Amino acid sequence: MKITLLGTGSPIPDPNRAGPCTLVQAADQNVMVDCGRGALMRLMAAGVVPPMVGTLLITHLHSDHITDLNDLVTSRWVMSPVNVPLTVYGPLGTRAMVDAMLRMLELDQQYRHDHHDDLRANGPLTVTVHELEPGARFSIGAIAVSVHETDHRPVRPSIGFRLEFDGRIAALAGDTIPCAGVDEMCRNADAYVQTVIRDDLVKFVADMVPTGARFRDILDYHSTVEQAAQTAARTGVKNLVLTHYVPPMQAGQEDDWRSRAAAHFTGNIVLGPDLTSIEI
Ligand SMILES: [Zn+2]
Ligand SMILES: [Zn+2]
Repeated sequence: MKITLLGTGSPIPDPNRAGPCTLVQAADQNVMVDCGRGALMRLMAAGVVPPMVGTLLITHLHSDHITDLNDLVTSRWVMSPVNVPLTVYGPLGTRAMVDAMLRMLELDQQYRHDHHDDLRANGPLTVTVHELEPGARFSIGAIAVSVHETDHRPVRPSIGFRLEFDGRIAALAGDTIPCAGVDEMCRNADAYVQTVIRDDLVKFVADMVPTGARFRDILDYHSTVEQAAQTAARTGVKNLVLTHYVPPMQAGQEDDWRSRAAAHFTGNIVLGPDLTSIEI
């Protein structure tokens, strides 16, 4: 199983980091987890063209995690010789969001149908949506998936995914503070991917910007680097993969971020630029 951080950014636009998105490749499947800003550019950089992605897993419906869903859906559609709907798994609310997005794309679809006879013959742009609750289980080809509750309140619901294939386990959380559901998802995982923030830097920046109070609020519902490391240590994780760096991790800061995790977790710690990957 290969895990690639397609986008390691966050809601804050960054010239070097795409928005939150992770690619899991196993059992001939390309599975995207969340679909943030610039995800498709990074997908191509990882050597995967959009029609090769069959499944998208969504952790929650914050905009930074879904901004490029319309690009994924449209690019797959126009680049595929046959019309195979994207399958999207997400929390309750996903269907309404996808339906609204498809309405947004109606004119574009009409233009393309008017122009391309073969595309029109393929039929309408469709997306298969499965709304999930914690405890749900399903499979993506030979990958077994279980769904776990995360805590990103007031964002409700929010979920994480535990993927198992060939004896390997990847646990992928979106934004969450440590909680029982994340612990359950991570138990003895080979890799645990967690979105993180730096509380010291957030507080420092918040004191300097006019929207400081709003920025400081994000401390309420994200794991810090240290908390993610503590979760990894507590649950027997082998590799801790950090992403969604807030504030954006600057060049030369990687050792500082890593050492804060290493103070709590003795396993392997993975972080870096977009397209950082690990094979488990
Ligand atoms: Zn969020
Ligand atoms: Zn986020």
